[in-house]
Amino acid sequence: MRLRLSDQQEAFRAEVQAFTSGLTPEPRHESTDDQFKFLVTFEQHLNDAGLAAVAWPTEYGGRGLGPVEYAIVCDELGRARAPEVINFVGIDVIAPALLVYADPEQLAAWLPRMASADEIWCQMFSEPDAGSDLTSLRTRAERTPQGWRINGQKVWSTWAQYATWGLLLARTGTQEERHRGISAFVFDMATPGIEVRSLQTMTGSAEFAEIFFDNVELPEGALMGELGHGWDVAQVMLTAERGPYAIRRSAVLRGALTGLHQLGANNTDPLTRQRIAEATIAMELLDLRIADVVTTLERNEQVGPDSALIKLLLGQVEQTIFSVALELIGPRAMAAEPEDAGTEAWVERYLYSRASTIYGGTQQIQRNLVGERILGLPR
Ligand SMILES: Cc1cc2nc3c(=O)[nH]c(=O)nc-3n(C[C@H](O)[C@H](O)[C@H](O)COP(=O)(O)OP(=O)(O)OC[C@H]3O[C@@H](n4cnc5c(N)ncnc54)[C@H](O)[C@@H]3O)c2cc1C
Repeated sequence: MRLRLSDQQEAFRAEVQAFTSGLTPEPRHESTDDQFKFLVTFEQHLNDAGLAAVAWPTEYGGRGLGPVEYAIVCDELGRARAPEVINFVGIDVIAPALLVYADPEQLAAWLPRMASADEIWCQMFSEPDAGSDLTSLRTRAERTPQGWRINGQKVWSTWAQYATWGLLLARTGTQEERHRGISAFVFDMATPGIEVRSLQTMTGSAEFAEIFFDNVELPEGALMGELGHGWDVAQVMLTAERGPYAIRRSAVLRGALTGLHQLGANNTDPLTRQRIAEATIAMELLDLRIADVVTTLERNEQVGPDSALIKLLLGQVEQTIFSVALELIGPRAMAAEPEDAGTEAWVERYLYSRASTIYGGTQQIQRNLVGERILGLPR
């Protein structure tokens, strides 16, 4: 991590290292349920050590620390190649919006159980015909005497089949109002009328789900923020994806790059070595930008359009690391036996890396942003 730390922050880093030094490698999982249970246990362990949500206020289960300490935790978990944090959608993306829009009772009820992974949260934005262009979403929320009635469908919702709570964007105005006619709702995923069907990806894991809403009755208090201002809630979450989540993801990739260096240590093929160098240089560029993000957040400022460059780099680094790893492993990757857990993990992460240019806004959308907001090109 390219940040100069104070003595206090160095002491905090030592505390995190004491935690990570006790970690054992993640075992191979027989099923998504097994993987889920393992990751929940890991997160509870992380939370017991006071490291799951260090930047949250203490009254809601955090440590009241700042973005630098958050980055230290991510960095050390990445170096230790620790299991991934299962409730990252909740902790990194949804919690920042709750901290703005939820009331103190809601925060006290939700956040500690989110940090401990006792309750998983899911984000329900994307629909079959509304992904890159969220303003065209069609899931509807209609007023009723008691609150709201939801009808529609969402898709690609990470870990939704295990979620206790979800944050939904739904249309409360007309289709023509685009982003102005959208509202945000938070509710219990066990509410009658909600059907969650998990979707298996090519990695074999069913890590996300599609969700159907059939006359789902929500109480008045499910509305988060003002009516018709769901776009503002979504913007807080998208900003968080550019901040905390980008910091976490880059640290995971730094750990994977170390693994790639070990895998390729004895390789003498100049072309492969060139590719390893490419991944390393892209990671260095990413690290510099992430240091800039941490400093921006430390100053209480928002990460600007540069975040599109970070997202592009994250995708480039991820796909380069895992495709080079597969080149190094060679044909053995095609026939990895379950007992060859190391190879199997590289193959799984290679397959997953295809998603890195899609989630959180596709590479094409990021390039549009770079063109329009950084280079000033016409729309
Ligand atoms: C691993 C993973 C986890 C996810 N988790 C969640 C989640 O928890 N919650 C959630 O709500 N969603 C989630 N998503 C969905 C994700 O946000 C969408 O997949 C993404 O926004 C793209 O939308 P889409 O799939 O509908 O593709 P589309 O928007 O249909 O895009 C299809 C293709 O067209 C291109 N395209 C579209 N518009 C433009 C344009 N204006 N200019 C140039 N090219 C364009 C895109 O780049 C893409 O190549 C997840 C996705 C993945 C892969």
